[in-house]
Amino acid sequence: MKSVIESLALCISVLALFACASGHHALFTGEPALVRKINAIEKRLEKAVSASPFLSMEVIGTVTYDNFQAPVRALTFNFHRDNGRKVLISAGVHGNEPAGVNCAVRLAESLAKYPEKYKNDVYDIIAVVNPWGWSYDIRYNRHGIDINRDFASFKSQEAKFIREFVKGKKYDLMIDLHEDPTAEGFYLYQYGHPDKATAKQVIAKIKMMGYPTEQNVSMIILKTKDGIIDAPMWGLWYMKLTRQLSIANFYRLNHSKNVFTLETPTRLPMEDRLKMQTIAVDMLLNGWLP
Ligand SMILES: [Zn+2]
Repeated sequence: MKSVIESLALCISVLALFACASGHHALFTGEPALVRKINAIEKRLEKAVSASPFLSMEVIGTVTYDNFQAPVRALTFNFHRDNGRKVLISAGVHGNEPAGVNCAVRLAESLAKYPEKYKNDVYDIIAVVNPWGWSYDIRYNRHGIDINRDFASFKSQEAKFIREFVKGKKYDLMIDLHEDPTAEGFYLYQYGHPDKATAKQVIAKIKMMGYPTEQNVSMIILKTKDGIIDAPMWGLWYMKLTRQLSIANFYRLNHSKNVFTLETPTRLPMEDRLKMQTIAVDMLLNGWLP
């Protein structure tokens, strides 16, 4: 009996750990109002690409619903022709978490403007994984699927596009950008990795900048430990087994040993969230060594 209770407690704690650091919304049903225009993002990305000989862009799939169509684009920055570390940054898998998208687009603009700063690495950037959700400020895709739980089942077109794009690729570092409507402060996930030095430095820097870091994301057993969630490998396998794998879980199991998810609290102004995300991405890019 005791072991049954223990197993149950373990399952619940795993679900709590990985369930959703970004809060819950009712599944999408009716016809929503347009909140943001994807064209604005497209224009900024195109401008960055046309300004830099080191940036290129490809369409990795076109999200298509009844009255909606938008490409999912991957930008690649390559200064040294494949000699550098390989880094992938994705954002906007949850449509109602816009700071990550802004951060990814701003990084693309920085790559165009200051290529020397980033010359040692090769970057792939997918700024908007869920363009429909982003346009309507909704967490899910048009079919009510949480794409960030779809990386074992691949029912959504969006998850399939990502799977195809990263197929056969290995990365030295992968970062997925999110936001959390319930958190008080910034936090990050690191997956199946013993070395927390860089993650700790990121948290220290965020604090130094005067921003709050999350101490208490509600979980039953495992919690944020001073802004860091240390997600163990067995938890990832559990999520795969129960068909709830997130994009970052998927990255960690298949494409990289070094995977982070960043979370900013949506209760703070956009400019502050953007600063937190940008500084954290910058530190992970610069401070972390394979
Ligand atoms: Zn999220």
